[in-house]
Amino acid sequence: MTNAFASSADLERKPETFTALAEGVYALTAEGDPNVGAIEGADFLVCFEARATPVAARRWLALLRERTDKPVRYLVLSHYHAVRVLGASAFDAREIVTHEATRALIAERGAADWASEHARMPRLFEEPESIPGLTWPTLTFTDRMTIPLGGDHGDLVLAYCGRGHTAGDIVAWLPTHKILFAGDLVECAAALYTGDAFHDDWATSTLDTVAAFEAETLVGGRGPVAHGRAQMAAAITQSRHFINQLRDTVAHIRNCGGSVRQAFQAAHTALSPRYGHWPIFAHCLPFNVQRYWDELSGQDWPLIWTPERDREVWANLRGPQ
Ligand SMILES: [Zn+2]
Repeated sequence: MTNAFASSADLERKPETFTALAEGVYALTAEGDPNVGAIEGADFLVCFEARATPVAARRWLALLRERTDKPVRYLVLSHYHAVRVLGASAFDAREIVTHEATRALIAERGAADWASEHARMPRLFEEPESIPGLTWPTLTFTDRMTIPLGGDHGDLVLAYCGRGHTAGDIVAWLPTHKILFAGDLVECAAALYTGDAFHDDWATSTLDTVAAFEAETLVGGRGPVAHGRAQMAAAITQSRHFINQLRDTVAHIRNCGGSVRQAFQAAHTALSPRYGHWPIFAHCLPFNVQRYWDELSGQDWPLIWTPERDREVWANLRGPQ
C-alpha cells in the first residue's frame, strides 16, 4: 500500500479515448478517470456528465464539435459528485437535469463535497478557478423522464434505479441502440467508490434494475466501454461482487467485535487480490469501509465528507498506530 492520501499522488494525465458507439452517440473514456457521453437529437445534443471543471469539459466539447455543431439542450448529471458536475458551465445547456435527491444533496453538501473531492483528486480539477460555483439543476425528476430526440432518433430515457452509489443516481437509456450510460452505479474494471452509498440496496435491487435494461453497450462511470451482452453482464457482476465482498468482510469484523481499522484491513486483504490493481482502489477503500461501517451502525443517511473528515478517516484506518 502506498501512503499518499487518496489520489493526491496521481498527477499524470490519462490518455482519453473518444468512441462513437452508434450514429450520433459518443463516449469519452480515460483509463479509469470519470467517463462522459453525448447523444445527438435531430437538432440538439444531450450531454451526460460534465467533468470536474469547465476547462476539462471544453476538451471533451472540442471533440464533439468535430462531429456536430448542434447546441446542448440537456446536460444530464448522473449524481452530485464534484468531478462529474462542476464543469457544467462550459456546456451552455438550456436545461441541467438531475434526480430530485441530487438537488437536495447539492444544497446540503455540494460545497463540502467540492472541497473534499478537490483534495482527494487534484489532477482532475484542471484550472479550478474556471469553476464559477456550484452546479444547480434546472429540471429534476424522481422516477423517469423521457426526452424525445426528434426525427428518427427515438427517445432517451432517464431513469432512477434505486439508492446506490448515492441517494440520487440516474442512468440514461437509449432503447433504439440498447446503449446504457450507467454513471457510477456500474464501473468497468475500475474500483467502486461507496463513501456516499447505500450498499445493501445497491448490491441487490438497484443493480437488478440496471441489469434489467439488457443493454448491449454499457458506459460505466469509469473504465472502458462494455461492448456486447457478455461484457455488460461482466461489468455488473464485478460491481456487485466488489460491493458484496466489502459488505461481507466489514460486517464479519463488526459482528466479531472488531474495530473499523480491522475491518479496513480485512476488506483490503479480501478485495486486493482481484481489485487491487484497478484505478482508484487504494484511494476509495478507506472511505468505502467507513461508510459501510456507519451504515451498519444505523447511520442511514451518509455523513458529509469534508477535507478534515477525509484526513481523519484516512489516518484512523491507514495511518501508523
Ligand atoms: Zn460518484
